[in-house]
Amino acid sequence: MRLQDKVALITGAGSGIGRESALLFAQEGASIVVVDINDEAGEETVAMIREQGGQAIYVHADVSKAADCEGMVQAAEDAFGKLNVLFNNAGIMHSQDGDAVSTSEEVWDLTMNINAKGVFLGCKYGIPALRRAGGGSVINTASFVAVMGAATPQVAYTASKGAVLSMTRELAVVHARENIRVNALCPGPLHTELLMKFLNTEAKRQRRLVHIPMGRFGLAKEMAQAALFLASDESSFMTGATFLVDGGITAAYVTPE
Ligand code: NAD
Repeated sequence: MRLQDKVALITGAGSGIGRESALLFAQEGASIVVVDINDEAGEETVAMIREQGGQAIYVHADVSKAADCEGMVQAAEDAFGKLNVLFNNAGIMHSQDGDAVSTSEEVWDLTMNINAKGVFLGCKYGIPALRRAGGGSVINTASFVAVMGAATPQVAYTASKGAVLSMTRELAVVHARENIRVNALCPGPLHTELLMKFLNTEAKRQRRLVHIPMGRFGLAKEMAQAALFLASDESSFMTGATFLVDGGITAAYVTPE
């Protein structure tokens, strides 16, 4: 098994990429700390892990709050004795996020607080725990929008993911000699609740699909496979990477008909 005897904390594990990663990491032998603000969804992920014979606990934590982030790391060490993998994955895409003119200050602040500050706070409290474990792997969920611009504006989201990507590079360099690797998982457009709520009409979905060479949205399960690689020792010489898993969207100039 690829994560035998490891302890992994995953934020936003009540849904989408976080849930699929929790299930997959558990199948590969890890004990999982499921973190979310949606208690019902988080508990459901824990039940699913236990059903497949794995070990997991649920911790309620809002990643934009320092005390909650401190608490989730503490809970991981209390329950399982250590932390080896920190997956800062929780994020939002607000339905009122638009261009610079139309986006409200509240939407900007909320998005930055969860998507960017949430990663900072996860690392602030998680990195000392990884040090205590002798090293580990940090995975921060950014997005392909951190490296490309889109004409369908979501300025707060895009800026927040740019922050995650640049923060990831600096953290990787700073902690490289401590046996702590830090990589950014950059998904392309996915068929998850988050994006489907934003692209809420068939016309909007088709408008986005035009740009994806593979001609389909990715699946949360496919992101979980990529995250597993970053979490495991198979990626042992990899840090500070922009790990794009995007159906070819960032490679495309013109897509096939
Ligand atoms: P999702 O909406 O399915 O799941 C996100 C989870 O995070 C939910 O369970 C939600 O309750 C939780 N959450 C929200 N705010 C939180 C907070 N403050 N504290 C703790 N938990 C919180 O989303 P997803 O598609 O699985 O997205 C996961 C990550 O992937 C996000 O960072 C997102 O920006 C990123 N991403 C998604 C796509 C996509 O197309 N879906 C593309 C690129 C990147």
